[in-house]
Amino acid sequence: MRFDPERALVEIKREFGEHGGVCPSIERSSTFTVLEPGTMPEIFGGLRGPDKGGCFLYSRHFNPTVDVLARSLAAMEGTEYAVCTASGISAISCTLLQLCTHGDHIVASDTVYGGTHALLAETFPQMGIQTTLVDPTNVSAFEKAITPATKVLYTEVVGNPTLKVADIRALANLAHDRGIRLVVDNTFTPMVISPAQLGADVVVYSLTKFVNGASDMIAGAVCATKDFIFQLMDLHTGRVMLLGPTMDPRTAFDIYQRLPHLALRMREHSRRALAIAQRLESIGAPVVYPGLESHPQHALMRSMGNEGFGFGGLLTLDCGTVQRAEKTMSLLQNEEGFGYIAVSLGYFDTLISCSGSSTSSEIPPEDRERIGLSPGLLRIAVGYSGTLEDRMAQIERAVRKAELV
Ligand SMILES: *Cc1c(COP(=O)(O)O)cnc(C)c1O
Repeated sequence: MRFDPERALVEIKREFGEHGGVCPSIERSSTFTVLEPGTMPEIFGGLRGPDKGGCFLYSRHFNPTVDVLARSLAAMEGTEYAVCTASGISAISCTLLQLCTHGDHIVASDTVYGGTHALLAETFPQMGIQTTLVDPTNVSAFEKAITPATKVLYTEVVGNPTLKVADIRALANLAHDRGIRLVVDNTFTPMVISPAQLGADVVVYSLTKFVNGASDMIAGAVCATKDFIFQLMDLHTGRVMLLGPTMDPRTAFDIYQRLPHLALRMREHSRRALAIAQRLESIGAPVVYPGLESHPQHALMRSMGNEGFGFGGLLTLDCGTVQRAEKTMSLLQNEEGFGYIAVSLGYFDTLISCSGSSTSSEIPPEDRERIGLSPGLLRIAVGYSGTLEDRMAQIERAVRKAELV
């Protein structure tokens, strides 16, 4: 039977509040009492954590409310366990620093989130961790770049911002043949794609985007085996524990309360993005969307997707030059009210940004050209406010006024 993230989310018990409330209680304590003094050394020795029938210790290590969210995310991905972090970028950095140390090597997609690119290309080399960047659609490029020092293959399912789609099954097979791990950033496609079901060892998230969905919080998560999550949380060596990107329990509560409608939201983001992409394509606009048959990895995306969730909420519109892109953004925001000029994604209103001069500005200009990131590329994170008919009319008028068709 095909994996269904929506069903998986309700199959785990929803957490009740302390007094039988339909919402969970928020445990805000930073520290917890132990009943017997002898328990404390056992907890520190890793023998008696809450997972082993022992008690809680300290909220940077393990907070019950944050754990409620983590268990739901693990269910949604179909992984054994998960840990939440204060941001998506800390989920990524802690994961990679847990898997790689000085002298190790990563092979990564060359079209990743700008912050991840900066981490791989600038920061990790200062710590003796080298990365080779390759085209995410070219599995043999990953294979060729593997060296005896390689510990990790890293990719986003749908690359930011070019929307190239990686073959997660093929990359997982390659990684496992070579005894290394595949880490996948699924920020763009929660529920749409379940990378762990396709073989990924670790799934990282910025919950800031679609999963939270209200653009009012920064948060992240790592979903993986119990063994790997406990490595991240280990009191003496865990990168989440020791680098300390702790999620606040109030943030965990808020995101947990929004998970029940994530499936509805993702379906609607996808439905509208497809309709808008089809409209733009029908008038000859330079649109890219994985749900269009003209997208080079359309069939691959279809073969990896969960039933009924479509192709995600992001599309791009290539305006050629920065000037054209700015004109189009201004028309879309200030004349048509189609959406906002803002970075980020996954909001109920549409967010529009020019990637080359914003979220991907960390990528050197010569590399941007090679990966197909045109200076005038607009990334449009399609929201679900307003009526779809109005939205399609607004973007069509803007595209015509900007003379993109
Ligand atoms: C935003 C984003 C991140 C970083 O997440 P933060 O929550 O801002 O730290 C990582 N990966 C992708 C694909 C993103 O869009």
